[in-house]
Amino acid sequence: MIEVAEGVLVATSRAMSTTSTVLCGAGEALLIDPAWRPDELDALADELEARGLRVVGGFATHAHHDHLLWHPRFGAPPRWASTTTAVLARDERATLVAQLGGDFPPALVDLMGRVEGTDAAIPGSSVPHGFAPELVVHDGHAPGHTAVWLPEQRVLIAGDMLSDIELPLPFYPDDLPSYLAALDLLEPYVAQAAVVIPGHGTPGSDPGARLTADRRYLAAVMAGHVPDDPRLANPGMREEYEHLRRMVVPTQSNSAAVSRG
Ligand SMILES: [Zn+2]
Repeated sequence: MIEVAEGVLVATSRAMSTTSTVLCGAGEALLIDPAWRPDELDALADELEARGLRVVGGFATHAHHDHLLWHPRFGAPPRWASTTTAVLARDERATLVAQLGGDFPPALVDLMGRVEGTDAAIPGSSVPHGFAPELVVHDGHAPGHTAVWLPEQRVLIAGDMLSDIELPLPFYPDDLPSYLAALDLLEPYVAQAAVVIPGHGTPGSDPGARLTADRRYLAAVMAGHVPDDPRLANPGMREEYEHLRRMVVPTQSNSAAVSRG
């Protein structure tokens, strides 16, 4: 794990550079999106143990299978998410479980997605000393997607947005307006942040540049231009671009038809 700010530790999975964030203070820890492979979750438990940390809570940024994970060795403290995320984790459980793959250990499958909804704040008993996390709930990458802002540490835990390796991925069926609104909502936090932690990729001291890059990419797709974005070369990203491009064109003609009508 690397420490990106005082008491803010980040581990990175070998699968899709998925990040796990640990907030720790006074022997307590809050786990945000612990991920991903069973051996990595086990290794995370080892690290927590070695540091003498007791897990007092969990938080999931959104209802995708790789952000809802848990391990028995983390214990059974309350695990939180936005109310929309909690509803989706319950209602979409069969799909999410299938996405884990057939060889995922049953004990971990059972623990996936067992989150309770809160939109106001993470209850204090789940927050280690020295932190006052604020939840920024929006529908950018997924309905009820949540960024966690740590004002004192000036750290923005962005969930699956503001990544240096992934392009913006609006959720099915490609709700671009929600994504653009989410970027607007994140902007004041980005402006204050010293560090951004993306759900996949590298923590960085360049949150403003990432926001600009995401807007630039989406603007190009919406204008029908081929985006000039180095992230297009990353695995799977060309397909994501093609998918978004196909979705954007009909959306534009639909809205033109509506405004004409
Ligand atoms: Zn996601």
